[in-house]
Amino acid sequence: MAIKIGESDKLAKQWGNKPCSHPSVEKEIDWYGMQTGDVICTQCGAAFFGKDAWRKAREKALEEEKKRGK
Ligand SMILES: [Zn+2]
Repeated sequence: MAIKIGESDKLAKQWGNKPCSHPSVEKEIDWYGMQTGDVICTQCGAAFFGKDAWRKAREKALEEEKKRGK
């Protein structure tokens, strides 16, 4: 499964401004089905440049969640 360019905007709208721990991502593809190199959070639509960037963002988000006492 992959997420087409533009669909991340829809995800972002649906999700709103809630905090997200980015539990899972899918590769983003452009209109021609080519991978853009970005991965998209399937929950909030955030884009990360590659899975390493995502892993870092996810760790950070989980830490923030802990700070909020969740
Ligand atoms: Zn997310």
